Amino acid sequence: MKPKTKPVVVVAGLGDTGALIATRLSRTCSVIGISTRPALMSGQELGNRLTQPDDWRKTYLVPYRRFRKLDPAEVVHGRIASVDLDAKSVTIESADGAKRAQRYDYLVIATGASNGFWRNDRIEDLATVETDLVAVNAEIGAASTIAVIGGGATGISVADNLARAGSADVHLFHSGSQPLPGYHPKVRSWIGSVLSSDGVTIHPDHRAIEPEGFTRDRLTHEPVEWSTGQAAFAADVTIWAVGGVRPHSAFLPPSMLDDEGFILVDEHLRLPEHPEVYAVGDVAASDPLRSSARNWGYRVVVANLKAAMAGRSKKLETYSAPDYRWGSILGLQRDGLTVVQPNGKRFRIPHWIAKPLLLNVFVERILYGGLRGR
Ligand SMILES: Cc1cc2nc3c(=O)[nH]c(=O)nc-3n(C[C@H](O)[C@H](O)[C@H](O)COP(=O)(O)OP(=O)(O)OC[C@H]3O[C@@H](n4cnc5c(N)ncnc54)[C@H](O)[C@@H]3O)c2cc1C
Repeated sequence: MKPKTKPVVVVAGLGDTGALIATRLSRTCSVIGISTRPALMSGQELGNRLTQPDDWRKTYLVPYRRFRKLDPAEVVHGRIASVDLDAKSVTIESADGAKRAQRYDYLVIATGASNGFWRNDRIEDLATVETDLVAVNAEIGAASTIAVIGGGATGISVADNLARAGSADVHLFHSGSQPLPGYHPKVRSWIGSVLSSDGVTIHPDHRAIEPEGFTRDRLTHEPVEWSTGQAAFAADVTIWAVGGVRPHSAFLPPSMLDDEGFILVDEHLRLPEHPEVYAVGDVAASDPLRSSARNWGYRVVVANLKAAMAGRSKKLETYSAPDYRWGSILGLQRDGLTVVQPNGKRFRIPHWIAKPLLLNVFVERILYGGLRGR
C-alpha cells in the first residue's frame, strides 16, 4: 500500500502568529514556513526593545533553530512573491535571489503589516537585524529630547518606557483629546495619569505633518510641524508611531483585499472563495480592530485546518473579538506587568512572578512549545 502523504501547509510569514501556527502543525502536516528573517522577530514591546534590548531579545528575537517544534518543518528564508490561488501554488523568492514554485494543500497567510521602523517585510539576515537594533538604540540613547508621535499602544509604550529610563525629556504628541483609541474609556483615562507620573509630557490635539515622501521607517531629526496650528517642536529625535499601517498583501489579487489592502476573511478566518486559504494576524480584516493576533486567531486557524483535513468542515470554529483592545501596554516593568482588559479593568502580575511564569513558562514553554538553549 502506498504510504499516506501528509498535507502540505505553506505558512507565509513566521511572525507572532505564523510561528505559533507552524509549531502546532509541524508534526501532522508537511509544513513549509516562509520567513523574511531566520528568527522570530516580534513586533511586540517596542518600549522594552528600545530601553532594555537584552531582555527584549531573550523573548522576542528568537532564531527558529531554537524552536523544538519547528524541527520537522522546512523553514525557508525568503518571502512570498505571488500566489496562484487556482493552481494552489506560491512563488517563493529566497534570500539568495532564487525563485521556486511551491504547491500547497492549505495556505496560511500571516505576513503582518508595517507600521514603523520596527516592523517591515524586507528579507534580512540576523547580522543586519542586530546592526539596525544597535544603531536605533544608539541614536535614541544620544538624545536629550525625544518626541514620540502617536497615541496608540506603541507610542504610549515607547514614551513611557523612555521616560522611566530617565535619560531624556520625553514628549508624547497625539491627535485626539485622549490617547489609546480602541481601548475602553477607563483605560484611556488611567493611562494619562500613568504617563504623567512617569515623567512624559503629553501634548493632546496635535496632528503632525509628515515630511514629504516619508514612509515612517526611520527616526527623524528635523522640527515637527502640526496641521492643528501649534508651533513647530524641535527634538533631538522623533519617533513616528502614528499607526498608519501598510499590510503585506501585495502578492494577492486586489479582489481578495479590502480598500486598505487587508485580506478579506470569513468568520472562520478563510478567504471566502478559497476555503483552503487562511489569513490571520495584522494582515487579516478579521474584525474592525484587526486584532486576531492577540485574540488567539492562531487557535482558530489551527483548529479549522485540522477539522478540514479530517473531513469535518461543517464543524469549524468561529473567530470573535472583543469590542475593545486589551493586553499589556507598557510591558514588564520593575513593579510588574499590568494587563488591561476589554471591560476596562486591569490587573498586575508582580515582577517576581511575571518573569519566570509569564516569559519563561507561558511564552517559551507553552506558546513557543519549548526552546533550545542559545
Ligand atoms: C500571544 C500574543 C499576545 C499578544 N499580546 C499583545 C499585547 O499584550 N499588546 C499588544 O499591543 N499586542 C499584542 N499582540 C499583538 C501584536 O502586537 C501584533 O498584533 C502582532 O505582532 C502581529 O502578528 P502578525 O503575525 O500578524 O505579524 P508579524 O509578527 O509582524 O509577522 C509577520 C511576518 O511576516 C513577514 N512577511 C511580510 N511579508 C512577507 C511575505 N511576502 N512573505 C513571507 N513573509 C512575509 C514579516 O517580515 C514578518 O516577519 C499579541 C500577539 C500574540 C500572538
